[in-house]
Amino acid sequence: MLLVKNGRVLDPASKTDAAMDVLLDGDAITEVAAAGKISRDTRGAEIFDATGLIVAPGFIDLHVHLREPGQESSETIETGTRAAANGGFTAVCCMPNTKPVHDNASITRFIVDKAKNAAARVWPIGAASVGSKGEAIAEIAAMKEAGIVAVSDDGKPIATAKLARQVMEYCNSLGLPVIEHSEDVSLAAGGVMREGITSTRLGLPGMPAEAESVCVARDVQLIELTGARLHVAHLSAKASLEQVRWAKSRRLRVTCEVTPHHFTLIDEDVTYDSRFKMNPPLASREDREALIAGLADGTVDAIATDHAPHEPALKDVEFDRAPFGILGFETALGLALEQLVHTGKLSLMRLVELFTTGPARVLGMERKIAAGQPADLTIFSTTREWTYDVKQSASKSRNSPFDGRKFKGGPAATIVAGKIVSRSA
Ligand SMILES: [Zn+2]
Ligand SMILES: [Zn+2]
Repeated sequence: MLLVKNGRVLDPASKTDAAMDVLLDGDAITEVAAAGKISRDTRGAEIFDATGLIVAPGFIDLHVHLREPGQESSETIETGTRAAANGGFTAVCCMPNTKPVHDNASITRFIVDKAKNAAARVWPIGAASVGSKGEAIAEIAAMKEAGIVAVSDDGKPIATAKLARQVMEYCNSLGLPVIEHSEDVSLAAGGVMREGITSTRLGLPGMPAEAESVCVARDVQLIELTGARLHVAHLSAKASLEQVRWAKSRRLRVTCEVTPHHFTLIDEDVTYDSRFKMNPPLASREDREALIAGLADGTVDAIATDHAPHEPALKDVEFDRAPFGILGFETALGLALEQLVHTGKLSLMRLVELFTTGPARVLGMERKIAAGQPADLTIFSTTREWTYDVKQSASKSRNSPFDGRKFKGGPAATIVAGKIVSRSA
């Protein structure tokens, strides 16, 4: 038994914001009561004193790259989930662009099996097309049987509208969401950052915002045709957000996520340092403002990290040649507090929703703090001052533009299936 005492429980599902104790037994929550009022016998229980801390449902990250199988020098399921737990995440959804691509049930089973000993829960996402090549549809039903929670060709979009329609129809019959890396590759081709004044000044090839929004528009029309569930990954452009807002107003089944780096940094922050290279690239100031408005007003459903580790040998090269992507787990909550809550733009409850019930809903799941629910909790501070030192990261990679950044507030403890899997000093 584990008794989490004296914390401020924030539970978006029940709109609870109160001083409460939470009793966990094995992998389930057994009782939630006002502070000091647990009725069960708690003698012998381990006590976690959460005085001054927020107790939230376990955070879910919808978009991560764990690099296993095939790129274990950059990350493994073991190291990636440890970094996730240190960032407050109790469950992560891993993208299928591994080597080989996760497009069949034997790889699903491999991931599920490896994840049994992992620090956080791992919910795999299968490829939409064979090898994510955009030609033939992958064996989605068999992968679902083995444990996938969604499909995506992340790293790239589902190549053609015809195939996207087919994948949507198929996933609709299986009850799975289709997660899209929205990019018109013909418009984006050759670009390494957002097209604009900064790309011109740096002399780097740019990709326009429309490379993203054109693909979002395509997919929104296709869900109107198929009735499928579309989730737009790492949405970065105002025009894309407007497509999502329009589709939601028509009651189409669309959801979207935004990354911490897109609500924190903009194209003007880009230097020749490859830690500022990601896809979609850092957007304009106007886009960033629109994303924050969307996070506040409910158009955005989830904050997801797109944690994309690359070992130094790959990433520490010229900007043009470096792969896209940065680490995300350990700085996500700190950045969200800094940019969204401490600035007064979002309430703490809304922030918690974006990390918990929001992503759960995208997957058709529930997340709440109530008896009978899984014993997954994220406990965090909104005041503790700390500095991110990427050299101390549990990840195998070091590609973070936030190394050395000072934060106010961050994870205090992460509890998965009733066990404390990470605890800050
Ligand atoms: Zn992507
Ligand atoms: Zn990704």
